Amino acid sequence: MQRDIRWVRSPGKNQVGPEHQNRFLIEPGHWEEHDPFLMLAEDWFPRGTFGPHPHRGMETVTYVLEGRLEHEDNRGGKDVLGPGDAQWMTAGRGVIHSEEPVAGDTVHSLQLWLNLPSKDKMSAPRYQTLRGDGMPVRSEAGVTVKLFSGTASGMQSDTRNIVPVTMAELELEPGAETVQELPGSYNGFLYVLEGEGRFGRDAVHGSAGQVLWLGSAADGRANSQVRIRAETPLRVLLYAGLPIGEPVFARGPFVMNTKEEIVQAYRDYQEGKFA
Ligand code: MN
Repeated sequence: MQRDIRWVRSPGKNQVGPEHQNRFLIEPGHWEEHDPFLMLAEDWFPRGTFGPHPHRGMETVTYVLEGRLEHEDNRGGKDVLGPGDAQWMTAGRGVIHSEEPVAGDTVHSLQLWLNLPSKDKMSAPRYQTLRGDGMPVRSEAGVTVKLFSGTASGMQSDTRNIVPVTMAELELEPGAETVQELPGSYNGFLYVLEGEGRFGRDAVHGSAGQVLWLGSAADGRANSQVRIRAETPLRVLLYAGLPIGEPVFARGPFVMNTKEEIVQAYRDYQEGKFA
């Protein structure tokens, strides 16, 4: 069955600091509606914005659109992501890291916060650097699909998931069309990076800067399809994942199931147990 588009939003930018702007593409707080996604933030920021800070109980998926982003953590990990690169970070039981532009750069990035199920919230932290030029790609009939996670266009990603998530970037020439398969159980959305197109069963219009949330598949359907047609050169990201269906209790950089676990997270951090 064809997925329809439940809503289209054009999130406004916030001036967070003199040189830091952001917008929430997926607003935090709507845990059940967006499950397993917690939020998606788009940021434009200079060095000095995201210095050392902790996380627990979730994953972050950072995709760099412009600039060079240096990642450093409390276990000696260090990496630089350039435009087109992504990092899949499993915070698990706890990391402390900084996410800073290389001196002189302004980074433009997307950061997804992805929930973890209760049984995996205290798992070992890990990082996966997903180089844009190393991801599987398939091109045909004016459509290029690059796969960062999950499955799309007959490709399968090596990216290790705890919660199954499909993340793909699609580039279409004007007039080109593609139909992407998704498990019927997944929640998902599209973010238009560039251009304009028509999306979903009812060919809803979407353009750069807009988020389109996919309607649910009918109950019991194993498979569903998302139709995308370009009206101009079009670049769009598809994120979709299997809902977890657990209560969410989130405070600051910690995402747990209960208030008690959040209190414990702050206590563990203050007692140096993330180090
Ligand atoms: Mn962080």
